Amino acid sequence: MDRLDTLAGFTDEPGRLTRLYLSPAHKAAALQVRQWMAEAGMAAAIDAIGNVAGRYEAAEPGRPALLLGSHIDTVRDAGRYDGNLGVVAAIEAVAELHRRGERLPYVIEVIAFGDEEGVRFPTTLSGSRAIAGTFDPASLASRDAEGTSLEQALRSFGGDPAAIPALARRRERVLGYVELHIEQGPVLESLNLPVGVVTAINGASRFTIEVTGTAGHAGTVPMDLRQDALAAAAEMILAVERRAKGAEPGLVATVGRIEARPGAPNVIPGQVAFTLDVRAPADQDRHKAVEDLAAAFATCAARRRVRMKLDKTYDEPAVTCAPWLVGQLAAAVERAGVRPHLLPSGAGHDGLAMVALCDVAMLFVRCAGGISHNPAEAITAEDADVAVAVLLDFLRRLALPA
Ligand SMILES: [Zn+2]
Repeated sequence: MDRLDTLAGFTDEPGRLTRLYLSPAHKAAALQVRQWMAEAGMAAAIDAIGNVAGRYEAAEPGRPALLLGSHIDTVRDAGRYDGNLGVVAAIEAVAELHRRGERLPYVIEVIAFGDEEGVRFPTTLSGSRAIAGTFDPASLASRDAEGTSLEQALRSFGGDPAAIPALARRRERVLGYVELHIEQGPVLESLNLPVGVVTAINGASRFTIEVTGTAGHAGTVPMDLRQDALAAAAEMILAVERRAKGAEPGLVATVGRIEARPGAPNVIPGQVAFTLDVRAPADQDRHKAVEDLAAAFATCAARRRVRMKLDKTYDEPAVTCAPWLVGQLAAAVERAGVRPHLLPSGAGHDGLAMVALCDVAMLFVRCAGGISHNPAEAITAEDADVAVAVLLDFLRRLALPA
């Protein structure tokens, strides 16, 4: 917990925690993490794309590696546990092995990724994509709000764009990627459980929906002659909520933004744009919900004599966590005296990129009120202790697939 407080001191904005990818605060945090890794018996370095990677050798040479980690970049005005907890916990687990002189039948590599939140540049997951071998060099040209390119920022950080391809790990040398992270939701708290095992990182689709009716005078156009785009949109939004409350486990759908034009109290809205965000642990459930909603929107638009246009702006498939890792994490949770609860992750994580390289799994830690991306983010030392104990026990007893 002290280390998490220390990391929270590395910020780009005084008075609140903002640590954007490749910023001076990110560099300071990376140097601190490298030092902690070295103290925990790891050979540690900051790599060409700004990840910090520490390696704890196996009992015998030539063994493959299990990758652990999370991210140390944050959103603006962030909490101190999102990402950082997973890095500090992994180092803590290795430190305990080191203190006791224990070596495992595999290498442990702890990685502190630097670009998970995707706040500074339009690209995201650069660090984990580099490790997974899927980094797109074209993204080096992408620019932040100040006009600084990713390539320039990386060079001032001390990185080396030309060396990024060499960061890709070899598939046959990697056993899997396991990340410990705060839940960022209220489920574990509602069940009174300190930790839970993730089954899948939800896939997500995002859309912009435009509804076009006819603007008109709020006093002169009779109700039955109106083509009110906002009333139509309201009906569509309630259809979203109704559909997501269906039978599919873990399906969620949200309309988070709406804009009505012309936007005057005495004018019937002629033009409305709203967003739709649909997520589910199973891709087929997400696709079916989107299909049903598109049909419901079209029916509503036809009945109300307005036009409706639906554009997809983002689509990321779900990542299923590897059963052999999920099962062994759940067994470690049970050995810690906690009922193993399985749950999907509604938020995205570095595992979305790492799955291109290897099997992935995650352990969630209860956080107060399910709040994250906010300074009010909080966990207890007791829960952190359970989480590290589970991780350590999992590492010690890990049975490798044949
Ligand atoms: Zn995170």
